[in-house]
Amino acid sequence: MNSPAAQRMPALFVGHGSPMNAILDTPWSRAWRELGQQLPKPRAILAVSAHFQTHGVAVTAMPQPRTIHDFGGFPRELFEVQYPAPGSPELAQRVAELLAPEPVIADQGQWGLDHGSWSVLVHMYPNADIPVVQLSLDANRSAHQHYELAGKLLPLRNEGVLIIGLGNIVHNLRAARRRDTAVPPYPWAAQFDQAVRDALVAGDYASLSNWQQLAPQAQLSNPTDEHFLPLLYAAAVHDDDPVSFPTEGIVWGSISMRSVAFGLNTGSPASAPQQA
Ligand code: ZN
Repeated sequence: MNSPAAQRMPALFVGHGSPMNAILDTPWSRAWRELGQQLPKPRAILAVSAHFQTHGVAVTAMPQPRTIHDFGGFPRELFEVQYPAPGSPELAQRVAELLAPEPVIADQGQWGLDHGSWSVLVHMYPNADIPVVQLSLDANRSAHQHYELAGKLLPLRNEGVLIIGLGNIVHNLRAARRRDTAVPPYPWAAQFDQAVRDALVAGDYASLSNWQQLAPQAQLSNPTDEHFLPLLYAAAVHDDDPVSFPTEGIVWGSISMRSVAFGLNTGSPASAPQQA
């Protein structure tokens, strides 16, 4: 992906929330559209979605990844969404080079683009004209090991590649009150979301790998860690850039919609849609 013309890209984490954001007009979908317009145009996107978990590290390496509808119980309209962005075998190869000697599985068709990625990218890049590669979360790895691995991807930012983690900083579906749009955040959810924000603002990235220690009852915010870990893939390539929060807010009491940007020139403090 080397090119003298490539523009240095910010690094992003986006809280994706409900897959319905893909087809509804929400404060989040509107903010993601604005974000796409605000960013320099990437040559390619490396997406780290909460929904692509493997044993060992894998990248999607096919030229045309399929759109995966990896959920149930949603309207047919959501199953009809296609996000036909091309893949990039070249970027997949470059990721494998950067992560060496870690072996990287080149996935030729088992995976594709999952809803963690496309529910956001349909808004950020509605033309689906930017190649997208997904990098998996290796389920055998600790948070610290994810952070260490992710740091090796920093050169991609200078090669015009947008690294984007897609998950949720607070993600407790069991506690979520999905029918109650005005429900306030659970105290443990608000505390954890704020603690992560404070750590990011303080540049205390090391504490993110010990996220269980960041706030009381942190475990309630992430009963499993796959929605939190994509944040580490953005934070690990912070490169001492200023941090900003393109979106923030907690929906259903227990899903944080906070997004985090490194090196994004926002011109103003974080905008904050408060309700889904
Ligand atoms: Zn998700």
